[in-house]
Amino acid sequence: MKLLEERIIKDGKVFPGNVLKVDRFLNHQVDVKLLNEIGKEFYRLFGDKEVNKIFTIEASGIGIACIVAQYFDVPVVFAKKTLGKNISADVYSTPITSFTHGRTYDVIVSQEFLNPEDKILIIDDFLAQGCALQGLINLIKSAGAEIVGAGIVIEKAFQQGGELIRSQGIRVESLARVKSMSDDGTITFCD
Ligand code: 5GP
Repeated sequence: MKLLEERIIKDGKVFPGNVLKVDRFLNHQVDVKLLNEIGKEFYRLFGDKEVNKIFTIEASGIGIACIVAQYFDVPVVFAKKTLGKNISADVYSTPITSFTHGRTYDVIVSQEFLNPEDKILIIDDFLAQGCALQGLINLIKSAGAEIVGAGIVIEKAFQQGGELIRSQGIRVESLARVKSMSDDGTITFCD
């Protein structure tokens, strides 16, 4: 998505450890007009499929998912991160290790909100090593629901997450695929 790539070049910042900061428009300050274009693009890609729920993970995924959901006219469910030891019986849970924070969370979703008849589109901001996306997939599988696909805003294609998830036969559509990032701030994209 050209508009997104241009914005990443203009406002993205490369940090040590392969972290791309997009706090100016996606992860801290949010450009809602751009999000609206992102929502439109995900609808163009997945709108011909039956989707009855958008699923994401707190916190950064929620705003994006809500805009996407307006195009599909379906609700958003988001998985919650918890460090709590007592996970109640009425939730599905899975561990996720955060790429940016380096810690492991249990991620939960109430069994009330994921059902076997659901057809789910996953939305998230980044795909790096694939741990977050794999966690969301695990939760959907626990519920016996169908995964229509995953819509990712920025995939760091030089990390293995894309390969990990696509090799499971899951359709992953990323609006910007970063091919390389260097410490001097240069960012290139896959064709
Ligand atoms: P993964 O689990 O695929 O390694 O990482 C995905 C999650 O980590 C995303 O939900 C995102 O919040 C965060 N993340 C991974 N890489 C980056 C990055 O380069 N920049 C930012 N801002 N977040 C990232």
